[in-house]
Amino acid sequence: MRHKIEKTWEQRDMESVFHPFTDFGTLNSKGPVVLTHGDGIRVFDVHGKSYIDANSGLWNNVAGFNHQGIIDALCQQARKFPGYHSFFGRVADTTVALAEKLVELSPFSDGKVYFTNSGSEANDSVVKMLWMLHRRNGQSQRRKIITRLNAYHGVTVATASMTGKAYNAEFGLPLPGFLQTDCPHYWRFGRDGESELEFSQRLARNLEELIIKEGADTIAGMFAEPVQGAGGVIPPSEGYFEEIRPILRKYKIPLIADEVICGFGRTGTMWGSVKYNMEPDAIVASKCITAGYFPMGAVILGKELSEELIRVSEEAEEFPHGFTAGGNPLGCAVALKSIEVIENEGLMENVVKVSPHFMQRLRKLGEHKYAGEARGVGLMGAVEIVADKKTKQALPSELQISERIANKALEKGLICRPLGAAIVLGPAFIITEKEIDEIFDILEETMVEVFSDVGL
Ligand code: PMP
Repeated sequence: MRHKIEKTWEQRDMESVFHPFTDFGTLNSKGPVVLTHGDGIRVFDVHGKSYIDANSGLWNNVAGFNHQGIIDALCQQARKFPGYHSFFGRVADTTVALAEKLVELSPFSDGKVYFTNSGSEANDSVVKMLWMLHRRNGQSQRRKIITRLNAYHGVTVATASMTGKAYNAEFGLPLPGFLQTDCPHYWRFGRDGESELEFSQRLARNLEELIIKEGADTIAGMFAEPVQGAGGVIPPSEGYFEEIRPILRKYKIPLIADEVICGFGRTGTMWGSVKYNMEPDAIVASKCITAGYFPMGAVILGKELSEELIRVSEEAEEFPHGFTAGGNPLGCAVALKSIEVIENEGLMENVVKVSPHFMQRLRKLGEHKYAGEARGVGLMGAVEIVADKKTKQALPSELQISERIANKALEKGLICRPLGAAIVLGPAFIITEKEIDEIFDILEETMVEVFSDVGL
């Protein structure tokens, strides 16, 4: 009789999982990292190797990987009422409690919350809300959506159309009517002799020209992340939102703040849109809303937009759109607890407290010969690798420099993320200065080794 050979977790993964956003060259040569559990900001693989996660999962595990209070909240809700939908006017009490909490936390004096299971679904839902609203207001031509170069708003058919080229070209997207305006990255796009404010003013003029060219009455809305995240951590240039806001108002174009990364404290304030004076008409939230312990997205509609949507839904018919598990009470209990933890267990204060140290170590990394710009805010940061600091020219893409750095860092037990030519960091809100040092010590050492490996 043949003995059954026990397969490793890595083999089982390779045979069964189709990984999203995974480089298959690296996967085939190095294999997957199969994780079993976490402790604080560390995760452990099936061999017991520990990794310090400088990205808090995908920006979301902000309270660490084993917060007992959040786990208890999930278990308690599971015993009380583990699942119900919000269709047909039915709803779980916990879902209502979370909606109230989100409106209270928001910059809106009043409003309503629409629940989804992810950030993509939340943005996608807003697109449909806007399309429906304009159509029912007799403006069915108002369908165009404006986003910005280097944006990331998700991966559904509509949201991939709103996201950067790298995420839509493979699918024959964007859909028609999805427009892109400039990215407010002064270091990259500012002109010689142009001040940062002048740069923002130029971008605002370009936006207005785009609106006029396309026809204001054809535009449904504009989406913007307060700080572009997956585009490489790009805080807005000085005065950017203050410059574009009046233009959008002038042409009655709603502005949606995609706070999927920035929401709930990442920038050191509850909302990035408040920090940068966006004055949005709606906020899209996800990720930190459940500290990464449950899939959830939420659209927090400001007073005006929610009143309009309710009016047209009363006058015409229902909003024919919803997700079975949107507003699931398990997720809502987790969200209520996660928000309490962020507000009352000093997580927000900690972001403010340790952020200067994080930024100082990031800037020091930016002094490296091949570091072009070290940028960030709160607990989100990126260092851009270049061939030449002055010209900002990138290294040849075949070098895959950021991937090499991330791969080598992983061997040393550090999880960081390559994004284009940048290395991106977004640690959990519970991180200590000592852990920040550990991350940057490994990263500094790794960068020196990788540049020497490639002969630079
Ligand atoms: N918006 C932003 C700003 C994001 O960063 C992301 C995810 N990285 C999304 C939307 C999409 O969220 P999800 O992956 O939950 O669909």
